[in-house]
Amino acid sequence: MNPIYLDYAATTPVDPQVAEKMAACLTMDGNFANPASRSHRYGWMAEEAVESARRQVAELIHADVREVVWTSGATEANNLAIKGVAQQHKEKGNHIITSSIEHKAVLDCCAYLEQQGFEVTYLKPQTNGCISIDDLTAAIKPETILVSLMYVNNELGSVNPVSEIAKVCKANDILFHVDGAQALGKIAVDVEAIGVDLLSMSAHKFYGPKGMGALFVKRGVKIAAQIHGGGHERGMRSGTLATHQIVGMGEASKLALVSIQQEEVRLSALKTLLLNQLMSLDGVTVNGDDSGVANILNVSFADVDGESLLLSLPTLAVSSGSACNSATMAPSYVLMAIGLQDELAHASIRLSLGRYTTEEEIQKAVESISTAVHRLRGMAA
Ligand SMILES: *Cc1c(COP(=O)(O)O)cnc(C)c1O
Repeated sequence: MNPIYLDYAATTPVDPQVAEKMAACLTMDGNFANPASRSHRYGWMAEEAVESARRQVAELIHADVREVVWTSGATEANNLAIKGVAQQHKEKGNHIITSSIEHKAVLDCCAYLEQQGFEVTYLKPQTNGCISIDDLTAAIKPETILVSLMYVNNELGSVNPVSEIAKVCKANDILFHVDGAQALGKIAVDVEAIGVDLLSMSAHKFYGPKGMGALFVKRGVKIAAQIHGGGHERGMRSGTLATHQIVGMGEASKLALVSIQQEEVRLSALKTLLLNQLMSLDGVTVNGDDSGVANILNVSFADVDGESLLLSLPTLAVSSGSACNSATMAPSYVLMAIGLQDELAHASIRLSLGRYTTEEEIQKAVESISTAVHRLRGMAA
């Protein structure tokens, strides 16, 4: 039997309806042409599909259709946003503010920019995984050009106060970039209401294809291109548009928009069930915020050997609090940043629920975890 999939925050399967739309954009009898071909009907049809998908993505985040730039995923969108702002606005200042629990796609961009002479402040999150507005305000300098903070943390599910952060940025004339990869399809995202300047998206986190994403770029915000050639996407991101991928992201956005509320209610109930049952084991702590997203639960088990924990859960597909950085097992930098000790960070798992998660799966997961934890504690004693 296959393990129970509880790793939806790592990736989601493609929705069958999405896959069907994508398949119709590949072969000779489908919508296969280059959307940039202006001289024939095939090209026009492909362009129409791309622009229709752009509208669908724009609707999901309440943006204008001209504010969506296609990328190969959130990693590229983060690169384009952060390096793009840094290069474009370096005359104005060289200081960037982010946090220590961002995705590597943000942290590694910032590390690269530090080598290029930029100065980066890494805010330490509060124990609930959220950034404090006071800490942010205190970090601002006259040279600050960009604040980059994630909407929802991928390990904890904690939700940053993005609207308040946006107000602080605006008052100080600083651009605000949000990594929205874990928010889309989980909570209602409204770029206009928040007041964000740039927002990164990834299709495969909400039942679209891998290798596809987008960057919201608010009208009037200037960023330097990172990929040159051909001037696609109004010069911000060159390269032949991947019609099938784009159509897939568009369809996934359409489906997400109509299902968010209902899914949030359903997954909240499942998460509460999961949490309540796990809490009946002693020594269980929740990492992050009670008010986090409905689909992510990160828990630690006291008096359990972390390395043995995952090995004891072969029936579950979950993520651990240890990152296999090359050969070594390092405790998660996110869990360390919110104050966990090495040992407890190792003995943590992230369970992330999704579209196909059932109550029966949750019950089975609880049974597996309870058995494993009891057994490992028995061995430790
Ligand atoms: C998955 C993820 C990314 C990377 O997205 P890709 O499309 O896989 O490149 C970036 N940030 C966060 C928060 C993520 O969860």
